[in-house]
Amino acid sequence: MAATPHRIVIVGGGAGGVHLATRLGRRLGRQGRAEILLVDRDASHIWKPRLHEVAAGTLDSGQEQVSFVVQASRHHFRYWPGEMRGLDRTRKVIQLGALADRNGAEVLPARALSYDTLVIAVGSRANDFGIPGVREHCSFIDSRDQAEEFNAALRNQVLRCLSGPDAATLDIAIVGAGATGVELSAEINTALDFAAGYGVGDIRRRLRLTLIETAPRILGALPERVADAAQKELRKQGVTVLTGAQVVAVDAAAMHLKDGRSIPAPLKVWAAGIQAPAFLAELDGLESVRSRQLVVRPTLQTTRDDHVFALGDCSFLLPEGEKVPMAATAQVAQQQAEQLARGLEAMLDGKKLPEFRYKHGGALVALGHYNAFGSLGRLGLLGDGTFIQGRFAQWTYVSLYRRHQLGLYGFWRSLMFWLADLLRKGHAPRVKVD
Ligand SMILES: Cc1cc2nc3c(=O)[nH]c(=O)nc-3n(C[C@H](O)[C@H](O)[C@H](O)COP(=O)(O)OP(=O)(O)OC[C@H]3O[C@@H](n4cnc5c(N)ncnc54)[C@H](O)[C@@H]3O)c2cc1C
Repeated sequence: MAATPHRIVIVGGGAGGVHLATRLGRRLGRQGRAEILLVDRDASHIWKPRLHEVAAGTLDSGQEQVSFVVQASRHHFRYWPGEMRGLDRTRKVIQLGALADRNGAEVLPARALSYDTLVIAVGSRANDFGIPGVREHCSFIDSRDQAEEFNAALRNQVLRCLSGPDAATLDIAIVGAGATGVELSAEINTALDFAAGYGVGDIRRRLRLTLIETAPRILGALPERVADAAQKELRKQGVTVLTGAQVVAVDAAAMHLKDGRSIPAPLKVWAAGIQAPAFLAELDGLESVRSRQLVVRPTLQTTRDDHVFALGDCSFLLPEGEKVPMAATAQVAQQQAEQLARGLEAMLDGKKLPEFRYKHGGALVALGHYNAFGSLGRLGLLGDGTFIQGRFAQWTYVSLYRRHQLGLYGFWRSLMFWLADLLRKGHAPRVKVD
């Protein structure tokens, strides 16, 4: 009787997990050397760094999504719908919650799924730090549903504003001036420019957008020169940037700051900090930090279980000799997935797991259709730390997404997607206006 193949279960098909499943499927699943299973609570993948475009209405998420069923059938892995809720390390099973439809009706009951090797890649969300009113009154853009919800609210607010008196303003406050908050601010301006092009009134003139950041400067994780350039560009677009400003409470009408000021805004977005999903904090004795991220070794194995790995935003890896952990970025998640795919193959061959070494590919921020700024990393041909801006930076930023597509589809299919995007740009509306 043939032996049952080693079962690798990957939970989370985001920037890291979907790459890992695709690579392992091609290398191990195709030859029957392992059974690869991808579990995700959603039916399709969308690259999270593009969610601010979905939120602003400049990207149709339906066109950019990757169906897990289709990806799995083409790349020799299986997709298993479900939301992980718990883990039993002794029995080597994960627990999945019941699956419900949009109306809350149960589709599948709670289930258990066994594994030989488990990889947790469930990402992160913004951190409300327990500040009163944030959950109730702010939008988050950590998932496609949330980004679409914000976009619907934005369009409603635009309508109210245009049908109100001439002096009515469109007030938006965004908390957190990391890549998400900065890119969203510029993308909203971009969306309103496009809307004006379709004759939707002079709404851009009425926009009062405030970007609030506790730290002394915006884009704390990026080089100072990039942050300075981005801040100048935002101001040129009319965005009010408040740094060193701490939000202490939020209500339906406004954000309230520690220094006593209030920023009135019916539309409020919370894009500050990160934390891993709550169920990771107490996951059958695995070690986690305050932000609930699972502590991993350089092999990406969790510190207390050799059979459980974690990667991407939900993992906490402090490289030897460093003071800060690996950043929560798509670049890190993707490199970890590529490394782990090689590592798991080596493990099945009885070899030692390699250690993760991050290759800094640069840091970039895109400000809508206006500009982009960045500094090249070690992968850049112009040398480590070179400052870039304008068309070249915009092209480099887009190429990050194209690399992601290349990993998922291979060269020819990616080329077709790229050409299809070019054709679509020529005739499709550039912003959601209805
Ligand atoms: C608006 C925005 C802009 C960004 N811009 C950039 C950028 O320019 N550059 C950059 O490098 N990074 C950027 N980031 C950060 C980047 O998106 C993340 O670092 C990256 O997506 C992390 O990848 P991941 O695989 O760890 O998790 P994710 O990509 O978040 O994927 C997590 C997956 O897990 C699934 N999941 C979650 N919980 C469960 C569960 N319990 N059970 C089953 N499935 C579950 C989710 O459905 C999702 O598919 C941005 C983030 C945002 C929100």
